[in-house]
Amino acid sequence: MTTVHIIGGGLAGSEAAWQCLRAGLEVKLYEMRPVKMTAAHQTGDLAELVCSNSLKSTLPDSAPGLLKAEMEELDSLIIRAAKVASVPAGMALAVERTAFSKGVLEALSEFPKFERVDMEITGLPSPEELEKSGDVWIVASGPLTSDALAEALQKMAPEGRRLHFYDAIAPVLEMDSVDTSIAFKQSRYDESGDGDYWNLPLNKEEYYAFVDAVIEAEKMPLHEFEDVKYFEACLPIEVMIERGRETLRFGPMKPVGLTDPRTGRWPYAAVQLRLENKQESMVSMVGFQTKMKWPEQKRVFQMIPGLKDVEFFRFGSVHRNTYLKSPDVLSSDLSFKASPRIFLAGQISGVEGYTESSALGLLAGRAAAAKALGQEFIMPPKETMIGALKDYVTEGGLGDFQPMNTNLGLLPTVPKRRNVSKMERKAEQARLARETFAQYQGINLKKISTYETQADDRV
Ligand SMILES: Cc1cc2nc3c(=O)[nH]c(=O)nc-3n(C[C@H](O)[C@H](O)[C@H](O)COP(=O)(O)OP(=O)(O)OC[C@H]3O[C@@H](n4cnc5c(N)ncnc54)[C@H](O)[C@@H]3O)c2cc1C
Repeated sequence: MTTVHIIGGGLAGSEAAWQCLRAGLEVKLYEMRPVKMTAAHQTGDLAELVCSNSLKSTLPDSAPGLLKAEMEELDSLIIRAAKVASVPAGMALAVERTAFSKGVLEALSEFPKFERVDMEITGLPSPEELEKSGDVWIVASGPLTSDALAEALQKMAPEGRRLHFYDAIAPVLEMDSVDTSIAFKQSRYDESGDGDYWNLPLNKEEYYAFVDAVIEAEKMPLHEFEDVKYFEACLPIEVMIERGRETLRFGPMKPVGLTDPRTGRWPYAAVQLRLENKQESMVSMVGFQTKMKWPEQKRVFQMIPGLKDVEFFRFGSVHRNTYLKSPDVLSSDLSFKASPRIFLAGQISGVEGYTESSALGLLAGRAAAAKALGQEFIMPPKETMIGALKDYVTEGGLGDFQPMNTNLGLLPTVPKRRNVSKMERKAEQARLARETFAQYQGINLKKISTYETQADDRV
């Protein structure tokens, strides 16, 4: 019996396991946690979300909304489990993380051919061994791949083909310790008063005092400082402030569309808190990734109105991420050129984000299953959102190869036309992607599910 061996029980590995099990294959999923932890994970759970609990926008014409709709059509376990474990988050799909991980484990465990193995994998079989056994492997070990496995991968991705950057985590707070006589509940531009986010308003003096305090606060020292590359969509607030004292007001502290009921006006700046669980006992600080030392985080964040007595469930932090220069080392089906029965999936392949990593897990899972079964697998075309993301990974974009979020810029552009707004052109891009996907699936366009709700970005 052909076995699919998957390294890493994160988002990509769990999704890939599901796709292979659904194809009738035997799956061994190797996860090193809790035996050996990473610098960011906190549990031994499958599909643990290491930072934000949001899988981003559900708007049908947004890139994350399109990607999720396509994944749902491709029978994604991650999207299914996220919907079951969802918590209110305006127009984003956010989840209660423990319930989400439990849902993923339960779904996989229903298959008798599924086995979770708690161990670190430190090496990979040779192409000859794999040819003989007929097995296939999927490497989905994520941005925090253990050193030993990274060494093994290095052999398949020679010098200069392995890169890294830095990613950061935002703090999680105890909701009971937030002063709700100051914090007000509202989703952006929604005046109904029953919005999903808690907002902490700052006036001009409070905003600049806060910015100064962040500048002066002690930060965590990072190794290899000379070559620190951050992921643009997840910059620590300190790095944003280095770009200008106003940057936060146009980023995570943007006040537009948030009316403070005490003044009837938009504040000068605002911090948003997003629910982390259904009991509403935990909230995360939206977009507040930080590398300040923990006591400094407590001191500086307590300056924000409404957080004077705040208690932290988890402090923010910064971690190193590793990914391969995939266009140089992978074939178009996500298998290694140097070893065609080994596939690469998830963030390590050069995407960035929970949904994106899951999407690449889904495709690698399907491609690996096809290879194990001796069947052909056709990747979704690059005019679809998931196909465009995969195409970026295996073909590369212009310039340096950098981890990529899903975005409409990956899709073919719609030419500028007189009297056609940017918004309308984006909607057309999304419509064309939906049509192409429907053709790929051979399904009725109407069947491609759409999400009812709103926009949210990485934060
Ligand atoms: C600090 C940080 C913060 C982030 N914040 C966000 C965010 O807010 N929003 C967002 O969308 N994305 C965020 N990301 C990106 C996010 O981690 C990834 O997009 C996603 O989790 C990657 O999924 P994955 O399955 O590729 O990797 P992971 O989910 O990390 O899964 C990989 C798994 O492999 C295991 N593993 C590693 N090496 C071995 C080995 N040798 N043997 C066995 N098991 C192994 C690990 O323990 C892990 O469970 C963040 C990443 C980091 C590092």
